[in-house]
Amino acid sequence: LKTAPPILEVEGLSKSFGGNQAVNDCTFTVPEGSITGLIGPNGSGKTTVFNLISGTLLPDAGTVRIGGTDISRMASWGRAHRGLGRTFQSTRLFKEMSVLENIAAPLGSFSIPQMGLDAVSGREAERARELLDFVGLSRYEQAKAGSLSYGQQKLVELAQVLVLDPKLILLDEPAGGINPTLIERMGDLIRDLNAQGKTFLLVEHNMPFVLGLCNPVRVLAQGHVIATGSPDEIQKDDAVIDAYLGD
Ligand code: ADP
Repeated sequence: LKTAPPILEVEGLSKSFGGNQAVNDCTFTVPEGSITGLIGPNGSGKTTVFNLISGTLLPDAGTVRIGGTDISRMASWGRAHRGLGRTFQSTRLFKEMSVLENIAAPLGSFSIPQMGLDAVSGREAERARELLDFVGLSRYEQAKAGSLSYGQQKLVELAQVLVLDPKLILLDEPAGGINPTLIERMGDLIRDLNAQGKTFLLVEHNMPFVLGLCNPVRVLAQGHVIATGSPDEIQKDDAVIDAYLGD
């Protein structure tokens, strides 16, 4: 069976902060059509890798390729233009704006000073409403984003990422700090989107969530990939067990 070519290739990536080597010769791929998990103990470099992929940080060495194109030194918006979307560990919603305005915001055809409930109109509002319905939060359309629970805000952020129709979505702790009902909904939405053709790379501390959702899984320790494989394979891997016990 021919395996799908990787949509994302990280090769020899390194980044240090002062004397601290946060990411050290990190190499892994994300197969197109997969839900790939990136796990590792605290401080193993997961967030830094995410920032290097999305362009919030630039690497000291190494490359990041999307669909075969080197994007390592491209600005974040250029990466978004190439089909990359991401969420953040703590959501970055505009708390004083409505949920609907937040979802439409990346479409960017209205400017901050003009914002108001009427600012989102026509096709943009229609698309934002579809996505709000998809994440199950239609009744909060006009609520201020900051008034929603943390888990609901994470679902709004997922809808916001989807509005630009990315091919590859990086999720930073999608299940972190949210209640079990919303964790289940988040997992279902990710599976649903994956079935529609979206590829995911997610960082997550909730092991049952990762192991039930992701395949393959990449394991980081001290900035380096120490294991890669199916959830079953990595759970049996001695280097992975050692890395977690040493945490
Ligand atoms: P993880 O997400 O796996 O917990 P991080 O990527 O946040 O790991 O951190 C990896 C290492 O890099 C840690 O030792 C952390 O303290 C360090 N680090 C991360 N960001 C910075 C920064 N902006 N300045 C200095 N050190 C940092």
